[in-house]
Amino acid sequence: MTIQLAPQSLAVTPSNPMNPYWAEIKAIQPEAPGVATYWLQFLDPAVRQGYTFLPGQFNMLYMPGYGEAALSISSDPENRGLVGHTVRHVGNVTNNIARLRVGDVIGVRGPFGTAWPILEAKGSDIIISTGGIGFPPLRSLIYYTMNHRQDYGRIAVLYGARTPRDLQFTSEYEAWEKAGVEIMVTVDRSDETWTGQVGVVPILFYRLKMDPRKSYILTCGPEIMIRFVVYEALARRVPANRIFLSLERNMKCGLGQCGHCQIGPYFVCKDGPVFSYEALEPYYNVEEL
Ligand SMILES: Cc1cc2nc3c(=O)[nH]c(=O)nc-3n(C[C@H](O)[C@H](O)[C@H](O)COP(=O)(O)OP(=O)(O)OC[C@H]3O[C@@H](n4cnc5c(N)ncnc54)[C@H](O)[C@@H]3O)c2cc1C
Repeated sequence: MTIQLAPQSLAVTPSNPMNPYWAEIKAIQPEAPGVATYWLQFLDPAVRQGYTFLPGQFNMLYMPGYGEAALSISSDPENRGLVGHTVRHVGNVTNNIARLRVGDVIGVRGPFGTAWPILEAKGSDIIISTGGIGFPPLRSLIYYTMNHRQDYGRIAVLYGARTPRDLQFTSEYEAWEKAGVEIMVTVDRSDETWTGQVGVVPILFYRLKMDPRKSYILTCGPEIMIRFVVYEALARRVPANRIFLSLERNMKCGLGQCGHCQIGPYFVCKDGPVFSYEALEPYYNVEEL
């Protein structure tokens, strides 16, 4: 039996994937403390036209003198004008991205990686379960499903952040709900402004009535959250080949050589980041793998 990892890229990479394309920052949208979305436009009009990606894929963003970081594409795959990246400023490259301003230029290589199972899941319900900086690759999926609403059943988003201030994309929830996307939000710690749910993301499954026979579970976020989301999905008898996870493991070489992002026989950089749980199951519960 061949185990399906996740859809390979059907998208078009403009030319040599080792050469960065230069893109101008057209807008910067603060999302939460230490997190912002950068809206990029390729300088070369031919690249702007030719560049396509699928929801779930990532680019390597290149800051000359500092290096590259893998960053998921958080924008609408059908918006050819601008490519969005939502970045948490945590280290060498991303803290320097934080210093960029509108009009500055950055290098982009990509798109890379496997995508969410958008074709396979047609006709099914999609339950998106995400936390923290795992939301960006799922926002591009939300846009995709909104553009193709008739192709999918129910779309539900279960999302958690540490505090109400850390919630991302809040200005868009109303538009998403109007387009038929259900949104359930929780925070780990509330404050005086919060009247909603408090607790970790997997508890939202207890408020969700779902049909496991026709649902896909798509998850990205901290690995501990992903583990518990998988437990909740399996407990509701969602089959392992309909649970998909995007792993954002520490990636270095991007070529499957250094092993930093390895899980069992797979490398997140060349076999992922999106995997079916069916593929990962034998390795996922082995400590330190
Ligand atoms: C496929 C993929 C998609 C990603 N998408 C996004 C995204 O959309 N937005 C975003 O903000 N980040 C994303 N990340 C994470 C991002 O690539 C890392 O945070 C990256 O290391 C930042 O580079 P840096 O040079 O700023 O930090 P570094 O200087 O490399 O590292 C800073 C600190 O974070 C630790 N670290 C680095 N990467 C990881 C990781 N993946 N998991 C846990 N700890 C880590 C390092 O050990 C170090 O302590 C993604 C990662 C992958 C593999």
